[in-house]
Amino acid sequence: MQTIDRSTVWPYDERGEPEKFFYSRYDHPTGVAAETELGRREGGDALLYASGMGAVTATILAFAKVGTTVAIAAGCYFGTSKLLGLLAPWGIDYVEFDQTAAPPEADLVWVEAPANPVLTMPNWEALRAHPGLVICDATVATPVYLRALDEGADVVVHSATKFLTGHHDALLGATVSRDAHSARLREIRGNTGITASPDAAGSLLQGLETLDVRMRRHTETATEIARRLGEHPAVQTVRYPGFSGLLSFDVADPRAVETSTSLILNATSLGGVRSSMESRARWEGGRIPAGLLRLSVGLEDVDAIWADLNQALQSRP
Ligand code: PLP
Repeated sequence: MQTIDRSTVWPYDERGEPEKFFYSRYDHPTGVAAETELGRREGGDALLYASGMGAVTATILAFAKVGTTVAIAAGCYFGTSKLLGLLAPWGIDYVEFDQTAAPPEADLVWVEAPANPVLTMPNWEALRAHPGLVICDATVATPVYLRALDEGADVVVHSATKFLTGHHDALLGATVSRDAHSARLREIRGNTGITASPDAAGSLLQGLETLDVRMRRHTETATEIARRLGEHPAVQTVRYPGFSGLLSFDVADPRAVETSTSLILNATSLGGVRSSMESRARWEGGRIPAGLLRLSVGLEDVDAIWADLNQALQSRP
């Protein structure tokens, strides 16, 4: 059991030199313990941040400069494209591309495994042949289903707010990388102060203890829910990559369906033990299909989740 050390400072040694821990913006014991465990699973050096978007921001700041073009996967997490749009005054450009095919010419290529909420997967062969730096947001896959560094990514990004911690009680981000990339990210993190709190790092340590079991159950239940949705007359397209707990599907009136559930929370976010569902058009507008509902399948009984979904789909045809 890890005790959470909330100190912000630790004394210098007897010669007046800083030891490993001296000021918590750079490193703290709970953060390092969680980073060691996440890094072991991903096969690289993990660093924790104040949120998933903190990890995204640090990565962009670390590897982009004036004139950089970032090619990002179409239908990836809305917040990443929103941030890149906000960075236009800093001379950073972005283009969207179909990540199932080869990326266009770009300095950085940003893929998502799988993309939230359209659930496509990156084309690793094409990515390995691309000269740009490859960044993979593996929030939904988690290291249980993907070791993206081994596939050819230079940097892996996670919103650890989701499956990695798993209980909707910690806002946390992570990067995993190797060698010079890790040193650059560490420099940016410490100096921008986008550092994780010890409490959130403690939630990650706890979440990682049950990650394999949770992910296996998320997958089993989501596979069955995707199958049943595929047979439902009120459902059009079902998107599910075959692993993890996130799926999306299209209905005629998504707002009516999402507000008719009782077990499934009508809330944003994903990756918790409790199922949650929302219409993404409220956030993303025309970027995704208008009828798209994103469902994060939790750890509840599969028949209980289905009963709730089924009545919501039937009450509003
Ligand atoms: N990446 C993905 C794939 C996400 O789904 C999210 C949040 O939903 C983020 C990044 C951002 O993470 P956070 O909300 O922890 O800042």
